[in-house]
Amino acid sequence: MRLSSYFVPTLKEIPSDAIIPSHVLMIRAGLIRMVSAGIYSFLPMGYRVVKKIIEIIREEMDAIGGQEFHLPALNPKEIWEQTGRVEAFGDTLFHVKNRDYVLAPTHEEIMAFHAKGSLTSYKDLPQIWYQIQTKFRNEPRPRSGVIRGRQFLMKDSYTFDRSYEDLDKSYALHDKAYRKIFDRCGLKYFVVGASSGAMGGSKSEEFMVKSEAGEDTVAYCENCGYAANVEVAQSNVQSVKRNEKSEPLKEIYTPNVKSIDELCNFLKIKEEQCAKSRIYINEGNPILVLMLGNDEVNESKLQLITGSAVRPAHPDELKEIAGADAGSIGPVGFKYRIIADNRLKNANNMFSGANKNDYHLGGIDFNRDIPNIEFFDLRIVQANESCVRCGSKLDVFKAIELGHIFKLGTKYSEALGVNYLDEKGEEHPIVMGSYGIGVERIFACFIEQNYDEKGIVWSKPLSPFDVHIIALNMKSKLISETAELIYSRLKEEGFEVLYDDRDGITAGFKFNDADLLGMPLQIIVGEKNLKDGNVEVKIRKTGEKRIYKISELHQEIKKLL
Ligand code: ATP
Ligand code: MG
Repeated sequence: MRLSSYFVPTLKEIPSDAIIPSHVLMIRAGLIRMVSAGIYSFLPMGYRVVKKIIEIIREEMDAIGGQEFHLPALNPKEIWEQTGRVEAFGDTLFHVKNRDYVLAPTHEEIMAFHAKGSLTSYKDLPQIWYQIQTKFRNEPRPRSGVIRGRQFLMKDSYTFDRSYEDLDKSYALHDKAYRKIFDRCGLKYFVVGASSGAMGGSKSEEFMVKSEAGEDTVAYCENCGYAANVEVAQSNVQSVKRNEKSEPLKEIYTPNVKSIDELCNFLKIKEEQCAKSRIYINEGNPILVLMLGNDEVNESKLQLITGSAVRPAHPDELKEIAGADAGSIGPVGFKYRIIADNRLKNANNMFSGANKNDYHLGGIDFNRDIPNIEFFDLRIVQANESCVRCGSKLDVFKAIELGHIFKLGTKYSEALGVNYLDEKGEEHPIVMGSYGIGVERIFACFIEQNYDEKGIVWSKPLSPFDVHIIALNMKSKLISETAELIYSRLKEEGFEVLYDDRDGITAGFKFNDADLLGMPLQIIVGEKNLKDGNVEVKIRKTGEKRIYKISELHQEIKKLL
């Protein structure tokens, strides 16, 4: 491609709305442009990358027996009502005005629609169906460029099996394919176990990359590879030690003492002697949640225990429920459900609120004084705590989800009546799995992991072009003719070549553009080297420069790539 006529609007300045490096560089390198919040166009060079990502995904999906579909993005609302997902998606679902249509945010419903009445016998199973297609989600906070868009490309696949054992096989195939896809794209990623949220699945894993721009927080152990979303992550923190002798309960006057730190100061006690109380509401019923010291309640874990949504009680509800305001609430005499973090198991001689403003209780024995207390893991894991698996120190950081694999089970097949007949003629719901990859996220995350102060650093698999020829001065006949020759020869050899044949542009400007665009190799055609029949090749990643004979160029380039 000749840069003189190719639409690549590079920018020198940092766009004001872009913060993270991939977003800045995708705009500066002329790969994308924003149309409206969360809605982007891929410009010609950016779309080359998209197509390469799609091709890698397609090859690996085909390799596990996937069959490619193309489903409509415009869906009748009715089918989404049948699975209850108009409500589940809520405001994230785009509705089409004046028609009972929605714009599909994912395609479980439509794939199940095609399976219904077609996959009717055990002989029709298993099936792996996939597509690479546009999805629509009215994300409340589109940000980080294409990483969280309102319209984006997803590879989504769906498996149909007769049993959970067979689903395990389909799931394992996807796990393998996903690793190959991300490896081939050159991404550094890790896999975490996760809760599957609105999808309603039983087991799921997320493929993540570490990034400050991420909206997920994960706990990760470098030593053994343990990785989990903090929503479900565990660590090996010590429980409190039970004292030999239990003291009697005593009420203590604690004026204006509200927080755990204030209590510790006031009574000259340690954080580990205090139980912090929080009241949550679940389906209209209060629950007292007890944590050791300043440990934070993990609301996702709490929700997994209650099985439905929880919210913190409002300050004006507390008095009615517990008889006291925040800061004075405690477990002794509390009339509703009480659950406590595992660290508090068998605790005695503890301090907590007295359910009476300005009073606390001391000498609380969790076994003696709190009947019907239940214990669970309720903590938010913190960095540097020890790993549940190997005891090494855990790292906690932000990450971006690249892909997600779910064991769906029969939720959708039951809702939509997708059944098959077994050998005995008995009817069963088909067992489904669903698996997604964000195409734009692969794109942006690759840049997040491969850039320097000058620009993007592509490597062969996703790079828009293999080589970037820079003709230093088009006015020189020697340079322009040689550059033309190299350009056509390399194209004939099957390389993808970008050729900076722009006239009237300084060498410095061309070098800066080449570094910004970031092709793996630059071939610099200039007078000095040409005199000896040579050109200079710069390796973008290392900055290393080598001199090659023009006649040997194509072999050397093949080796370098
Ligand atoms: P997130 O938690 O980041 O919103 P999700 O759990 O909603 O992701 P899935 O429904 O599992 O995502 O979708 C499958 C894949 O599609 C994700 O792993 C991600 O790569 C991609 N994806 C999801 N939402 C977006 C979006 N708004 N913009 C770009 N890609 C997205
Ligand atoms: Mg989402």
